[in-house]
Amino acid sequence: MARTRLNPRLTKIHLAYTLAEVAELYGLHVNTVRGWIKRDGLEPIDGRRPLLIKGSVLRAFLDSRRKKAKHPSPPGHLYCFGCRAPRKPALGMVDYHRRFGRAGNLSALCEACGTTMHRQAREDALGLILPEVTVRIVDAAPRIAEPAPPPSNCHFKQGAAA
Ligand SMILES: [Zn+2]
Repeated sequence: MARTRLNPRLTKIHLAYTLAEVAELYGLHVNTVRGWIKRDGLEPIDGRRPLLIKGSVLRAFLDSRRKKAKHPSPPGHLYCFGCRAPRKPALGMVDYHRRFGRAGNLSALCEACGTTMHRQAREDALGLILPEVTVRIVDAAPRIAEPAPPPSNCHFKQGAAA
């Protein structure tokens, strides 16, 4: 089930929303919005029934979720799409596939569910991402999965001398 990103800018900061309105605005079930209040710290306006949420509060809430989503995993963890949570690598085993000229790809099995977890990372950041984990470096062989750049769209200036 793919989850679309929730754009904080859909929220008008000078309005107040009922939970149903928030749900409708973002195409969610109203229970999702209730969950934000119960578990995730979204604060409704005090003492009002039905509950109302200030647009400015909602936008700040969504902004902070979005920032967290960009850095979902604490050190020593990779994000598991099976568990939808940061997980430790099974048996502390992680491979790092080097790729020429750009960030490589970390892969490991989730210790909880066995799903393969991936993350792009620069080699010099591995110690920060996975402290106390021995990462096996794998030199990238030419990969079938990586499409070659289309030659016609290449930005090389052919024959143009510097
Ligand atoms: Zn998992």
